[in-house]
Amino acid sequence: MTSSPPDQRLTRAVARAYERYAEQAGAWTRRFTAQGGTVHCRSGCVHCCDFPVRVSLAEALLTASQLNGTQLDAMRARAAQVIRNARTAGSWDEYFQRHRREIGYCPLLDQTTGACTAYDVRPTRCRDTFSALSAHYCRVGTLEHLNRQERAEYTREVRANPATDGLSHYIAPLEDMSEPVWTTATREMRQAWGMEVWGDFWVLTTLTQDGPFMDAVRAGQAARATKRARTLGLWNAEIVEIG
Ligand code: SF4
Ligand code: SF4
Repeated sequence: MTSSPPDQRLTRAVARAYERYAEQAGAWTRRFTAQGGTVHCRSGCVHCCDFPVRVSLAEALLTASQLNGTQLDAMRARAAQVIRNARTAGSWDEYFQRHRREIGYCPLLDQTTGACTAYDVRPTRCRDTFSALSAHYCRVGTLEHLNRQERAEYTREVRANPATDGLSHYIAPLEDMSEPVWTTATREMRQAWGMEVWGDFWVLTTLTQDGPFMDAVRAGQAARATKRARTLGLWNAEIVEIG
């Protein structure tokens, strides 16, 4: 789908925010490792690629701009799974667990090589998730199945590590540092469309390909956009926020 000039301005602004984040996160990581810290993320480490991912429509537009037809088809199939999961899950925890265990890896992940096939245009959440402890703890099921002693050891390690928030093993400063990307997306969406759209990565990326949906967004008509998402079967109040 051809993007409009305001959409192009918006995606360029998000891309610049990604670049600034990469520079700042790189500098932080160099300082951290020079002081003896370890970032456990490695190329080909994929356990975080089965998490639900929340994005702005601005980020989704940028991702979609670089995907081919096969990838977009896979995103659409995944979006339908996400909506089904949201409609039938009894709680956020059930939604989250089923997403990881049953829906599984992102279709943009090459499961043979462990590479992200959309690396340059992956969303913010995929950029700012780093682990201060072994990737073992990122694997689905690990934290849920720790025995009491293992849980105590995990808690001790997390609290002792200066890069965490003391609650989980993810690196808090690198996550906090992405805040300006969200701010940029918010500002750009408001300027371009007079409204914001946030939600699931695969659902929003799929919605970017629908002309009537994007026309409604570009006209700043939240109710019309919502109605169109409903018609497409891509609406759930927990999954998509328009307004
Ligand atoms: S966050 Fe965890 S699963 Fe993801 S790359 Fe880092 S260590 Fe691997
Ligand atoms: S976009 Fe890339 S990094 Fe993000 S979940 Fe998908 S495969 Fe993983």
